[in-house]
Amino acid sequence: MPDSIAPDFYAFDSLLSEDERQVRDTVARFVDERVLPIIAECFEKERFPKELVPEMAELGLLGPTFEDYGCAGLNNVAYGLIMQELERGDSGIRSFASVQSGLCMYPIHTYGSDEQKNRWLPAMAKAEAIGCFGLTEPDGGSDPGTMKTSAVKKGGDWVLNGAKMWITNGSVADVAVVWARTDEGIRGFLVEKGTAGYTTRDIPHKFSLRASVTSELFFDNCKIPADNILPKAEGLGAPLSCLTQARYGIAWGGIGAAMACYREALAFCRERVLFGKPLIHKQHMQIRLADMVRRITLGQLLALQLGRLKDKGEMHHTQVSLAKWNNVRMGLDVAREARDILGAGGISVECSPIRHSMNLESVITYEGTETIHQLIVGREITGVAAL
Ligand SMILES: Cc1cc2nc3c(=O)[nH]c(=O)nc-3n(C[C@H](O)[C@H](O)[C@H](O)COP(=O)(O)OP(=O)(O)OC[C@H]3O[C@@H](n4cnc5c(N)ncnc54)[C@H](O)[C@@H]3O)c2cc1C
Repeated sequence: MPDSIAPDFYAFDSLLSEDERQVRDTVARFVDERVLPIIAECFEKERFPKELVPEMAELGLLGPTFEDYGCAGLNNVAYGLIMQELERGDSGIRSFASVQSGLCMYPIHTYGSDEQKNRWLPAMAKAEAIGCFGLTEPDGGSDPGTMKTSAVKKGGDWVLNGAKMWITNGSVADVAVVWARTDEGIRGFLVEKGTAGYTTRDIPHKFSLRASVTSELFFDNCKIPADNILPKAEGLGAPLSCLTQARYGIAWGGIGAAMACYREALAFCRERVLFGKPLIHKQHMQIRLADMVRRITLGQLLALQLGRLKDKGEMHHTQVSLAKWNNVRMGLDVAREARDILGAGGISVECSPIRHSMNLESVITYEGTETIHQLIVGREITGVAAL
């Protein structure tokens, strides 16, 4: 098995089409050549490598599943493999792509007017415009139905007031997809950078996703033109449908982070000689490495079946919850295990497991915490909502 696809214990590669493999290998090369050489320093210095964004656009990684507006028209398995490889680099890079594609281009594509689509989608695919998605508020993200941000109709336009918190790409975004309470229920608005009363502030001192921008958004009597409401998005179901898209990609991303950590732990165990032999000779180390392969293999097969269901239009959002829960938990457990295997050196940012493990502390919380996904699955199998 080539190192570049390890671990592949169940001939996962053979389940992919030639096109899917090609997409994965192209993104893998981009990650190896452009992300990995700089990402430790970006993480340490809390810098989002914005210079990589045009290259991601060039490779067709932004909005890749759309067939129009200059997008690549890939299937959902290929999209998942993109997310896997980007997160093998860093969760922050994958988060950027997830937000741009799943949380911004998707709602504009699904709920937007023709004018909105023509204006934003080609520009977002080319990275000429960056998007962010404002749902979470300071008073709690798990229960977005209680949001306080409001929009009131005034003349033909809307007046937006409130605040959003923990918003990926916030201060670098040219357009924010913002969800607000209105007389007509929850609606989505496209808030453009430079709108009077719209300000952002980056959230400092993060120990996680340090190579990603996370911001607060503030709306103080922002006048939003009537043309900037998403005409087909009505009710909480619209933002939740966007989350389903992004969570699908995250389920693949967890595999990428775990693959990076597993490879590093295995390489270390081959080289590190203790008590007269390399660590791979120790039963306990073999069991720990075998357990990583077990977990990653299960995650791969789960994600692939989810992708095949999505491509057939048969995926249910509760299946996405189970996959996001399982694969992010799996990635976090593998990353922590790999960190420990690397010994003291494992606490250095020069090794990837500590960075992946710190990143995955965010990933397990955002886009629905692990608990929320467990309760979504619980509701599905019992018929009782315990949220
Ligand atoms: C780095 C980062 C980037 C993010 N990017 C975005 C973004 O781009 N856009 C966006 O809108 N949001 C974003 N978020 C916000 C994220 O989605 C929220 O943090 C998440 O939904 C949880 O909300 P909260 O942090 O307010 O926690 P809370 O909702 O306050 O939850 C606190 C705790 O209570 C638990 N809990 C909640 N409900 C129940 C229940 N019924 N029973 C038992 N336990 C429960 C939770 O699991 C959690 O442990 C981001 C977050 C981070 C960390």
